[in-house]
This record gives sequence, structure tokens and C-alpha cells, in this order.
Amino acid sequence: MRTFIRQMEEKAVRGGRLTYEEGCRLIGATGPDILDLIASANRIRVHYWGDRINLCSIVNAKSGNCAEDCKFCTQSAYHDTGIPTYPLMDSERLLAEAEMAARNGAGAFGIVAAWRGMRPGRDLEATLSRIRELVAAGHTRTDASLGIISDPVIALQLKEAGLAYYNHNLETARSFFPNICTTHTYDDRVRTIEYCKAAGIRICSGGIVGMGESPMQRVELAVALQELDVDVVPLNFLHAMPGTSFEKLPPLRPMELLKIIALFRFMLPSKDIMTAGGREVHLRDLQSWMFAAGASHTLIGNYLTTEGRRPEDDLKMIDDLDLTCASECGTPTPLPSIRADALAVL
Ligand code: SF4
Repeated sequence: MRTFIRQMEEKAVRGGRLTYEEGCRLIGATGPDILDLIASANRIRVHYWGDRINLCSIVNAKSGNCAEDCKFCTQSAYHDTGIPTYPLMDSERLLAEAEMAARNGAGAFGIVAAWRGMRPGRDLEATLSRIRELVAAGHTRTDASLGIISDPVIALQLKEAGLAYYNHNLETARSFFPNICTTHTYDDRVRTIEYCKAAGIRICSGGIVGMGESPMQRVELAVALQELDVDVVPLNFLHAMPGTSFEKLPPLRPMELLKIIALFRFMLPSKDIMTAGGREVHLRDLQSWMFAAGASHTLIGNYLTTEGRRPEDDLKMIDDLDLTCASECGTPTPLPSIRADALAVL
């Protein structure tokens, strides 16, 4: 196994794309081989990202009452979870949240809305104006996670409003998706990503592990993200919340989570691998290992409906590791422009 891990490390560093079969062999690592996997993933991270760590923050800009039935989600109207429900936040509140995120060290600020998705109308116009105001304020880079986009024109409108990155997780493998959601399809999510890419918006897309998927289905997710050529890959570790359909699911063990981070570093070697929800609850004292396991990014501050740890504790942890927080998130390469075929729909 050690030789195979090294061969895959060299392939990743040369920019080679690992296959599904190679990924399945890596995810099969056990015992001391996991430490070898982590050590190799760390070298791959350093090769592409040096000592740089990206940080971002999110805000729950519209909370609860979502019409979708995602089994893990506290904001689904199908679940009685007691979370606060409120409409889209006003500009003043969002600007204050963005300013605080920047002060905390975040290189990007993501506005997140708990609804099915964007369609022409009042919410879209309000959201576009919020994005324009955030971009104009320039506290930090403005990103968004606004659900399914079923019309490519909307992606162009988001781009023209100044949006740099769109978060839309595939959430899990295509073969497991019907187990987590029945009110929309995997293809709704793939299409959303394709519309945003065509509009010249960079993509932040990953998923949640620990929802009952198999290790091979985690590799299947990584391969799907390879094919979509996403830029940032958030990895969430299921935080089974009371009142959701997944409330009784047992957590994955910390070493398994570190192995998963390492797998995604191997499968998407140059991409921005990010740790997000559930890292405090499930990695606990092993949180600082997440960078050694290949993560080049973490979310700081609170999550949508649960608290994160204090940003200053994360900044201290990163400094203690002799790593450097990037002033702005993302890759060093310039943002792509609008693709010609995208304009054809106008
Ligand atoms: S679409 Fe988003 S907010 Fe709605 S239930 Fe699914 S994950 Fe939750």
C-alpha cells in the first residue's frame, strides 16, 4: 500500500487525474497506512498551495421553511427542528455581517438562502441588489449559495452583479442522492453548476460525508467533482441534528474523516479543499490535522444554524502550524470571463 500511495502522490503532483479505481484503493487504507496517506496528501497540498490557508465565512441570509426535503437539513420545512425562520436579510445587516467576517480574517463572505432556488421575481431582484451592495462595499469577496438555478440568464445576472463564486454542493454521489433528497434531482444540481460556469462564475461544490454513503460513493463524488472541474471543494462532516431524518446516524471517526480529506486532496490535487460543517464536533483535538491531511481552506465563524468556534482560535491554530492565512480566498489565476455560448441565451 505504501508504494501505491507514493505512486499516486507523484501522479497528483505531476497534475495527473486519479481514476475511480485508484481512489477506491486509497480509501481502503487502514491503520498505519492512513498516516502515510496523510503525509502524502500534505506534500500534495504544499506543492500546489505552499503554506497558504484560505478562510471564508457564511451567513444564513434567509432561514428555514425551505420547500425541499434534504434529509440532513435543519432548514427543511419537512423537519421540526425549532430553528429561527426569517426572510432575506436587509442590506444593512448583510453589510455588517460582511464587515465582521473581514475583521475576523475571512477572505470571502458567502450569503446563503434556505430555499429551492432562484427564479425571476422579487427575491431575485432583492438578492441581486444585496450582492451589488456587498461588492461595492468591498469588505471582502462576495460569494453566494442560493439553491438551484434553472435558467442560465439568472447565472449571467449574478455574474453581472459582481458574484465571484457560487456554492452549490453535489452533496453526495449520484448513486446515493435519492437517499438524501427526493424533491429535486442530482441533475438539477449539475445543471446549476454548468450554468454558473458558463456565466464565468467560479464554483464551490463538495458535499457531506457520514450520511450512510459507502467509502466507494465518496470516491464517486470526488470523480464527479473532477469532471465538473470545480474550484473549491467544501467537505462537511454530518452533524446529525435533532428533528432531521438523519438525527440518529452515528458519526464517522476522526481518522476516517482525515482519510477522506486526504482522498479528496489526491483526487483533486490542485483544487481548494475546504473543511466546513462538523469539523469541531467530529475532529475535536485533531482539527489541526485537517491541513496535514490536505485541506487548504476552512470555514471560520458560525455555520448556518449551529455555532462554530471562535475565529481567533482558528487563526492561532494556523499560526501555530507556521501556515499563513491568505488575505483573499481562491486561486491565484484571474477570474474567467463570460463564455460566448452563454451570451447566446440573452
Ligand atoms: S435545499 Fe438547502 S436549505 Fe433547502 S432543505 Fe435542501 S439543503 Fe436545506
